[in-house]
Amino acid sequence: MSDIFRQIEKELLMLQSHSFPQIVAGFTTKHGGVSKGAFATFNLGLHVGDDPSFVCSNRQRLADLLQFPLERWICCDQIHDVHIEKVTTDHGGKGTTDYQSAIAGTDGLYTEEARLLLALCFADCVPLYFMAPKHGMIGLAHAGWKGTVKNIAGEMVRLWHECEQIPLEDIYVVIGPSIGACCYIVDDRVITRVDRVLEGEEKLPYKQVSIGQYALDLKELNKVLLIKAGIHEEHIDVSGYCTSCADHLFFSHRRDQGKTGRMMAFIGRKEE
Ligand SMILES: [Zn+2]
Repeated sequence: MSDIFRQIEKELLMLQSHSFPQIVAGFTTKHGGVSKGAFATFNLGLHVGDDPSFVCSNRQRLADLLQFPLERWICCDQIHDVHIEKVTTDHGGKGTTDYQSAIAGTDGLYTEEARLLLALCFADCVPLYFMAPKHGMIGLAHAGWKGTVKNIAGEMVRLWHECEQIPLEDIYVVIGPSIGACCYIVDDRVITRVDRVLEGEEKLPYKQVSIGQYALDLKELNKVLLIKAGIHEEHIDVSGYCTSCADHLFFSHRRDQGKTGRMMAFIGRKEE
């Protein structure tokens, strides 16, 4: 399967961004770690009930693979909301070996500093990778259905445009591996919120499958919201991977009925 994410190690899919060679971005698989049982083997979430020493060992493995030491990673306490934090070297190491020091109540990060790795945990939710190479800016957001309908995608664009004065045409976004419409059935409660954020948009990212049941394409919904926020459509790439279908590669919260590990999405920038 050809995809903007390519598996380069058993542990790792890397974003293939030939136009931005200084950017290191990717998404982990469930393989190559030391965790056991439901977390076997490469669980990178500290908050899911796994043995923290296994998670730290897995994180160290990823740090070695990427050559980004843990002191340069930044992790958050993700709450399915839309708060986004601008981070600097001072935040380096937060949440990387203990959950208590993670940046509280935050589902998005961005930075203009090099050699920092923004790192968020996923098991079906949508990872959104933001890049404005001309401005040295990178960002990462966690968009499950709640973060998506609260429009965390649009919030990142707003912050970069209004607070950082980055022209919209300089922003690129990649929508990473997440649960696909093939495996994601939601009810009216979710679809009401989707309709509200779409504000009468014609192209709907869901299809009714039975009474009160809909197959929702969260990746496509984020893409529509990014375009509404002013991102050029040709600056948005979407991964085809479904975390639920690709059982051989990924943990899936829905497929594994809640008790499962977490993949990590990450983005950093090497020194020029
Ligand atoms: Zn699927």
